[in-house]
Amino acid sequence: MSELLDVIVIGAGPAGYPAAIRAAQNKLKVACIDEWKNTDGSYAFGGTCLNAGCIPSKALLESSELYQRAKEEFAAHGIKLGSIGFDVAQMQKRRASIVKTMTGGITALFKSNGVTGIQGHGRLLPGNEVRVTAPDGTETSLRAKEVILASGSTPVRLGVVPHDGKLIVDSWNALEFDAVPRRLGVIGAGVIGLELGSVWRRLGSEVTMLEAMPDLLPMADQTIVKEAQRHFKKLGLDIKLGAKVLRAAVKGSGVEVAYADGAGEHTLEVDKLVVAVGRRPFTQDLLAEGTGVELDARGFIEVDEHCRTTAAHVWAIGDAVRGPMLAHKGKEEGIMVADLIAGRYGEVNYKVIPSVIYTAPEIAWVGQTEEQVKASGRPYKVGAFPFAASGRARAMEMAQGMAKVIAAKDDDEVLGVHVIGPMAGELIAEAVLAMEYSASTEDIQRTIHAHPTLSEAIHEAALSADKRAIDAINR
Ligand SMILES: Cc1cc2nc3c(=O)[nH]c(=O)nc-3n(C[C@H](O)[C@H](O)[C@H](O)COP(=O)(O)OP(=O)(O)OC[C@H]3O[C@@H](n4cnc5c(N)ncnc54)[C@H](O)[C@@H]3O)c2cc1C
Repeated sequence: MSELLDVIVIGAGPAGYPAAIRAAQNKLKVACIDEWKNTDGSYAFGGTCLNAGCIPSKALLESSELYQRAKEEFAAHGIKLGSIGFDVAQMQKRRASIVKTMTGGITALFKSNGVTGIQGHGRLLPGNEVRVTAPDGTETSLRAKEVILASGSTPVRLGVVPHDGKLIVDSWNALEFDAVPRRLGVIGAGVIGLELGSVWRRLGSEVTMLEAMPDLLPMADQTIVKEAQRHFKKLGLDIKLGAKVLRAAVKGSGVEVAYADGAGEHTLEVDKLVVAVGRRPFTQDLLAEGTGVELDARGFIEVDEHCRTTAAHVWAIGDAVRGPMLAHKGKEEGIMVADLIAGRYGEVNYKVIPSVIYTAPEIAWVGQTEEQVKASGRPYKVGAFPFAASGRARAMEMAQGMAKVIAAKDDDEVLGVHVIGPMAGELIAEAVLAMEYSASTEDIQRTIHAHPTLSEAIHEAALSADKRAIDAINR
């Protein structure tokens, strides 16, 4: 058996690799094992997020949005272009090159921090031994004082929709299409479905989205969702709510989907079908008998608020454990665990985790929705500011959406901030910081925001909570 390490991390996604780096920064001897294999056969660190999620989706969202803006907004700026076209192969080349740069960056970060990165499958055995199977099948054993499980998640599949990897696919395949499908079906109008639907719709697909739930984005503030629905409709996303898929099958060169809604049973014919109905924790072949690590009823690794599993000296983080399946949530858990292992302070504030949907306009929020605050019974006040009144948004030709601040009536504490509009994902950082420090709307009101910036919308929304907005009518 090999030497005893301080920490072994299984999984080098956005939860695992920061855990490994922070543990190394804490002067611990660390190895991080990952088995990710790309469609071209190459191995890479970075997990779902860098290889098949956050980063490639944002690359394509950016390319397709620029194309859309060039078509629809440049004329208003007085910019004249000849005919506008696009090249999917070049978009995909750019996407792949960004992914390669970012995943290569993790290899470099491991090296500079002294983390031993290992490509291969890791399986936890009793006694904190980890059996590593290399891509060529060679087996070795490692042992560590502490083990961090960061095995992530995988797309949920529907039994009635058999994937063939070509016409019926998951989100990963849908990021690697080499041509624009004329008719695209998307099962699931959640965050991933909406982002993928937006990419291909902007490039010309007729997109039909089938969502089983009666409401769109039930976890988001409903004022914001109503506004979003207008924009999705304008883009041409045909979102069918309350539409339960009964079955789907490849038929000739396309796919036939049967679904039912309140009006009965329907058939939809598309050229490609993407299944984006959520993700489930991935723990396949991760745990040998007798480790003492338990899973909950939904397959998540059971952990406490500090990510300790039911086995001593074994921790679990990221998508494999409870909580929102978001890269930044996993990253903070990884950092917390690596600090706790080193005897330092570590905590994740689960109440203040931002969510972003990278549609156009973007949607972002932190804290409670108005519906949640109302249900809590705590008296509250709401301030809102439309980007139509923002000079910067006007100058950008992106004067759509609003910022909304919800605060407690008694002590003025900010309870939630919701933004739909240009760069909402960037703007929400201010609200996250404010809520992390338990700020009041008065704190935001008294904070100077540069003019003209989009961030003034948050400032004005905070003022509007007390009917003191300057640049908009107070209601
Ligand atoms: C299309 C799409 C878009 C997304 N966009 C965003 C976004 O914009 N923002 C955001 O916050 N989140 C986004 N997400 C979610 C985000 O990707 C996940 O929340 C994040 O990747 C979870 O990180 P993780 O490290 O827990 O798991 P993962 O990223 O899934 O990484 C786990 C890693 O562990 C490896 N592994 C698993 N088991 C073993 C084993 N036994 N041995 C060795 N290696 C193993 C896997 O190969 C993988 O590399 C998106 C997801 C998708 C699919």
